[in-house]
Amino acid sequence: MEVQLWRNATVLLHLKDKKILIDPMLGEKSSFGVFPWTQDNRLNPLTDLPFGPKELDDYLTNLDAIVVTHLHPDHWDATAIEILDKNLPIICPVPIAETIVNYGFKNVTGIENNTTFKEISISITQGLHGIGEIGKKMGTVNGFVFSTKEESIYFAGDTIWCEEVKTAINLHNPQYVVVAGGAATFEIGKPVTMTSDDILALCESFSEISVIITHLEAVSPCTETHKYISGRILANGFSNRCYIPKNGENLTFN
Ligand SMILES: [Zn+2]
Repeated sequence: MEVQLWRNATVLLHLKDKKILIDPMLGEKSSFGVFPWTQDNRLNPLTDLPFGPKELDDYLTNLDAIVVTHLHPDHWDATAIEILDKNLPIICPVPIAETIVNYGFKNVTGIENNTTFKEISISITQGLHGIGEIGKKMGTVNGFVFSTKEESIYFAGDTIWCEEVKTAINLHNPQYVVVAGGAATFEIGKPVTMTSDDILALCESFSEISVIITHLEAVSPCTETHKYISGRILANGFSNRCYIPKNGENLTFN
C-alpha cells in the first residue's frame, strides 16, 4: 500500500493496484479565499500543490476513483469540480451524493454502510467535526475504511478524537489510521480537527496502530504545525509508528 499526501486532506491511496484520490482540493494557492467564523484574512489554500499542472494531469488521468468525506472547500473545491473527469467513479456518504451529481458527475455512489470497489471493501465511519456550536456549524463528517484481505487503512476524516473514532477502530481493526491534525480552530469554541493531545490519546489507546497525520499548514484555521506535532510525538515515544508526510511525500507500507 502507498499513501501519498498531496496537500491538506488530499491523499492518493494506492491499494490493490487501484489509485483512489481522497478529498480533492486541487486549486492554486489562495484560490478559494477566507474561511468564515474567523478574523484570519489569509487566502486559502495557503500553499500550492507539490507539483505542476502537467504532473497533476498525469495523476488525474490514472485514477480509478475519488472518495469524498464531506464538502468543505478544503476537501472538495471548485477546481476539483472543474477538472475531474465527470465519468470517474465517486464514492461518498449518501447525504452529499446528490450535490456531487448536480455538479455533473455521472458515476456517483453514495454509501450508507459499505460497498465493494474492485476487491476493496469500503466502509463508512462516523466522526465529530468539533463539539458545541462550532461542531454544529461544521456539520456532519464521515470517514472511510479501505480493506483488502491483507491490508486495512482508516481515513478518519475531519474529526476530533471521540467515541466514534474509537468505535471505528474497534470495529474495523485497521493497521493504519489517517487523521486530520492541525487543531483547526475558529473564533468560537474548541478545535474541529485533532490536536496533538488527541493524536497522543489515539496512540495510547491503540498500541498496534500506525498513525498518519495530515491536514497541516495548508488552511488558515490550523494552529498546530508539522514541527510542533512531530516534537510532541517524539517526546511521548510514538515516533516509531507515527508519520507526518510532507506535501508530495509517498509513504510505502508492506
Ligand atoms: Zn478540513
